[in-house]
Amino acid sequence: MALPARIKVGPLTYRVSSKAASHDREQVEQKSELDGVCDHTKQQISLSPQLLPDASRVVLVHELLHAIFHITGLGHDMEDGTEEKLCRVLEGPLVMLLRDNPRLVAHLTER
Ligand SMILES: [Zn+2]
Repeated sequence: MALPARIKVGPLTYRVSSKAASHDREQVEQKSELDGVCDHTKQQISLSPQLLPDASRVVLVHELLHAIFHITGLGHDMEDGTEEKLCRVLEGPLVMLLRDNPRLVAHLTER
């Protein structure tokens, strides 16, 4: 399935892109060379177009965890580096949990 163009994180909707131009622009603005950038002000997540699909999913979840910490305000309460560590610790297990348990995902997303 294609990368969703928009993802709701609580009350905010983030635009998501893996286009080179968008990611390059975010890297320049954020002064980073990361595989993913979550810009809370613009509500935009950009992913490196160089990433292979599996890595892209992990980076997307990583950036979504940053968005969750932002909307909950937890990111402001943590010491420098703690939020990043939490995102790194949780990104892989969360992707694996969701991928390895499609019935769980169906159960959780049933309306
Ligand atoms: Zn991060």
